[in-house]
Amino acid sequence: MTTVQDLFDENIKFPSPPAIALKILEAVREEDNSFEDLAAIIKTDPSLSVRILKVANSSLYGLRQPVDSLAQATSLIGTDTLKNIALSFVIVQDFKGSRQGSFEQDYFWRRAITSAVAADILGRTVGRKDQDLFVTALLQDIGVMILFLSLPDGYTAVLDNKRVNRTSLCETEEEQFSCDHTAVGYHLLHTWNLPESITQPIRFHHRPDEADEEHRESAKILCFADKISAMYHGGRSNSKSSELYAGLASNWKLDKEEIEKLIDIIGEKSRDILELFEIDPDKIKPFSQIMQDANEELGKLNFTYEQIVLELSQAKQNAEQLARELQQANNRLQQLADRDGLTCLYNHRYFQKVFEVELSRAVRYKNPLSILLLDLDHFKKINDTYGHPAGDTVLQKVSNTLVRLVRNCDTVARYGGEEFTVILPETGNKGAKVLAQRLRRGVEQKEIDHNGQVISVTMSIGVASTDISDTDHDRAALIDLCDKALYKAKHNGRNRVEVALV
Ligand code: GH3
Ligand code: MG
Ligand code: MG
Repeated sequence: MTTVQDLFDENIKFPSPPAIALKILEAVREEDNSFEDLAAIIKTDPSLSVRILKVANSSLYGLRQPVDSLAQATSLIGTDTLKNIALSFVIVQDFKGSRQGSFEQDYFWRRAITSAVAADILGRTVGRKDQDLFVTALLQDIGVMILFLSLPDGYTAVLDNKRVNRTSLCETEEEQFSCDHTAVGYHLLHTWNLPESITQPIRFHHRPDEADEEHRESAKILCFADKISAMYHGGRSNSKSSELYAGLASNWKLDKEEIEKLIDIIGEKSRDILELFEIDPDKIKPFSQIMQDANEELGKLNFTYEQIVLELSQAKQNAEQLARELQQANNRLQQLADRDGLTCLYNHRYFQKVFEVELSRAVRYKNPLSILLLDLDHFKKINDTYGHPAGDTVLQKVSNTLVRLVRNCDTVARYGGEEFTVILPETGNKGAKVLAQRLRRGVEQKEIDHNGQVISVTMSIGVASTDISDTDHDRAALIDLCDKALYKAKHNGRNRVEVALV
């Protein structure tokens, strides 16, 4: 099994502590004169002393009087605090300047600094006397950065797996590297000779109950400080907040109001401290604002749900309307396919279809059936005399007349050119002849107006009926008979009706 040491030996380029950090640590380790030594070291970097003074003057410590020297700072906030601020600055600066790859340094430090502020404030709120809390919380996830920078592919896989499998970060790291970031961070800081008061809480910040009793409280504070930081910088504020409230209440008996106040102050002070560390606070919002936004998000979700229901029902209505329109369009299309464009009568194809159906029905029920073939007389002459458009008008008017004169159950179709046909179900030759005469007369009497000109037309009609034909099963034969009758009508002088006789 891989140990953290193996991991370090094999893969991890061990970052050495920043030189100035080492000196700071050494200086404060010696009991005597630690402040003078610390001050001397800090002063070697003028920008560092300026920034430390800014931190001392920041809202984090809320000093009543402005601090303008390190000596004054140390007397007001203590050498340990001063040391921790100095350490924090040099470490953050050192890492920020190192190679970064795709590691989001700014995000990492934004989260770490807010954690540090949270730990510091939470520590003071719950009466924990641990001057190292700030720097400890700041470095609690240093293992994440070390692992990421040393093994970027492996760590990217960890982040992906965590997201996909919804496992905890520590579990996922264990699977990938046989150790998690708390072990790596502990190992690193241990080799930097940082005291156990810092390394122990870091080692156990994800499982405080396993820490030595001495460091358990600090580990716990780190754990919750990180959760508070995640509220400001991670997503899912709402889901994290209930866990946080419950934890703070059960560990330190903080009520809702105290918790909200605490979190708000942490947000506010983090903003100031982040600026001093030259880390973009990234729109760090007051906690109350975060909760309000979260609730609004929730409201939006509800609204969106109602909206979805509304949109769905509208979509359903639209779909139904569309289906109706489609049906109508299909009907129209069907009509177009069945109808003749000029006269709007059924076309030849449709006639054949209906004729087949009606003929087989007539045979099945032993009913008579007749058909008529009608042909306009000397129609060519009409075209020649009045023009083709006039001929078209005549065809239309004749068609209307035919439709008007037949029964509902009869089917009038344009057979082709100036020829028409009528199917007469349940009609024998006698009835058919009567109807044919009616049609003939109707057309003969019709005065067709075309652009002020009155045109008259006659037609010859052939009748064929199943009751006088022995070819009653055969459409073609019946049509042929009918055609012959029509020819006879033409031959016998036109404008007349002839019935086919077998
Ligand atoms: P008959 O009495 O012997 O039937 O003589 P007809 O002139 O009516 O017969 P013919 O078959 O010689 O001529 C039919 C004419 O019908 C020829 C053609 O131009 C005309 N026709 C056919 N379809 C249309 C049409 O859609 N519109 C117009 N205007 N004329 C058409
Ligand atoms: Mg003809
Ligand atoms: Mg004709």
